[in-house]
Amino acid sequence: MRIRILGAGIVGLTVAFEFARAGCDVELTEKREGPGLGCSYFAGGMLAPWCEAENTERLILDLGCESLKFWTGTFPIAARQGTLVVAPARDKPELALFARRASGGERIDAARIAALEPDLAGRFEEALFFPEEAHLDPRAAMAALAAQLKDNAHVSLYFGEDGRQQGRADWTIDCRGLAAQDTLPDLRGVRGEMLILATGEIALKRPVHLLHPRYPVYVVPRGQKQFMIGATMIENEDAGRITARSLLELLGAAYSLHPAFAEAEVVETGAGIRPAFPDNLPRIRREGRTLYVNGLYRHGFLLAPALARRAVEAALQGAYFPEVMDAHPCERQTA
Ligand SMILES: Cc1cc2nc3c(=O)[nH]c(=O)nc-3n(C[C@H](O)[C@H](O)[C@H](O)COP(=O)(O)OP(=O)(O)OC[C@H]3O[C@@H](n4cnc5c(N)ncnc54)[C@H](O)[C@@H]3O)c2cc1C
Repeated sequence: MRIRILGAGIVGLTVAFEFARAGCDVELTEKREGPGLGCSYFAGGMLAPWCEAENTERLILDLGCESLKFWTGTFPIAARQGTLVVAPARDKPELALFARRASGGERIDAARIAALEPDLAGRFEEALFFPEEAHLDPRAAMAALAAQLKDNAHVSLYFGEDGRQQGRADWTIDCRGLAAQDTLPDLRGVRGEMLILATGEIALKRPVHLLHPRYPVYVVPRGQKQFMIGATMIENEDAGRITARSLLELLGAAYSLHPAFAEAEVVETGAGIRPAFPDNLPRIRREGRTLYVNGLYRHGFLLAPALARRAVEAALQGAYFPEVMDAHPCERQTA
């Protein structure tokens, strides 16, 4: 069977991987000059389904746990070191609130924090630890997926081309992220800003969330002394540079996690636009022989493998997944 995929973000890459694994001939076309240069480029790479349960539906936990198996088993590129959630002393009620809403976190004391992350010793009295969670470097993960696809004789990759212009196939899987607004008018963009700092003064083994009533922030270790600091959530589709306010907030939070971040080098700042449906849940929509896999919002890496598997089974076996598919094939709506 011949499958045409539009877009090589994390969704298009995992969809291509799963169709190729199912024995299909795959043609993956990306408008940009290489894979993973859209929204996915800016992601933190946290695979944190239990933490995300703090403010999302049960569906994210279920799909996220399924995807974790992909990133640690099928395509093992994630580090399973857990996630640490801390709060400054004045925001301790935030930690209690988070513990009530999230799923499966262990309350740990200062000694355990110091054992897990020696550089945070003495900085926080208590924390939540989610031992089963994982993280990955999104850019490295996407490069590795693309390299594996390139080596597969049944996969053709095209970069710098508009996938909508390509030839015919048995199925088209549209993974264009926010660009699919032209056919999915209820898709919106949620801006996320981030930065990368480099310092040899701090070592962290795992992502650390710093709770704050106004702007919760996380720090994800990237290796080579680099740390991704993210991320804002702004209802705005402007792909411009990070704003001064966001930069101040992210840097302030990094500094309150550890003052050594004040001396870090700013390696990069950036902003990506997350594709989201009104309820912030992912969807696979069908229109004729096209499946749209979209709306992964702030969970692209966390959910893409689970969505990709469903897209393959929907196309090849006619499977129906009520948790992510509309009851009826979508009618093209006008904006
Ligand atoms: C700051 C930030 C931090 C984040 N952190 C995390 C995190 O820690 N964990 C997590 O799971 N998620 C995270 N996310 C969310 C995640 O990045 C998104 O959910 C994900 O990137 C969406 O992937 P996508 O493939 O749908 O979109 P994209 O990555 O935007 O990919 C769509 C691709 O389609 C291409 N395209 C568009 N039009 C065409 C066309 N006509 N023909 C061919 N190709 C086309 C685009 O160029 C693009 O490459 C974060 C997002 C941001 C912004």
